Amino acid sequence: MELNVATELKLAGTIGHSELTERFTDLELNGRQIVLTEPVRVDVSWSFDGDGFTLSGTLSSAVLMNCTKCNDEFIEAFSVDFTERFLRVGEAEAEELECYPYSGDVLVLDKMVEDLVLLNAPMYGLCRPDCRGLCPICGTNLNNTQCSCTLPDEGNPFAALKELKELLKDD
Ligand SMILES: [Zn+2]
Ligand SMILES: [Zn+2]
Repeated sequence: MELNVATELKLAGTIGHSELTERFTDLELNGRQIVLTEPVRVDVSWSFDGDGFTLSGTLSSAVLMNCTKCNDEFIEAFSVDFTERFLRVGEAEAEELECYPYSGDVLVLDKMVEDLVLLNAPMYGLCRPDCRGLCPICGTNLNNTQCSCTLPDEGNPFAALKELKELLKDD
């Protein structure tokens, strides 16, 4: 994803605006695969202040997730507002200054897009607010089917212990 900034580079203070859309391949963060189900959309304004570029706008896409309760796959859209700096420096220096490097009259946005996605894509969630999850006994997805398992005392963790105590008392 690139921005041609030749015009703004010649005329400091001029504000450029663009809406960019590009499909990004799957990204990885700490071993977690982030699958984007929609192209990344970036709505961005930028200007050159004589020193570097300030970009601000909104990035949006959608990510494939697994429900934390029933493990079903679902798609969650997300969007994030951002403001980032681009300076004409080397990569190492850019990292130190917490900005992105550029050269010539083109800003390459790929690294910025990847960072924004990795930092802002939702990681945990429910497939729907009232997800019923899985039956703890047989593993049936209770959103789809009702199994015939009966939970002791409606999921009270102390119920089993109480039953055991009763049994011991009888002996
Ligand atoms: Zn679910
Ligand atoms: Zn069950």
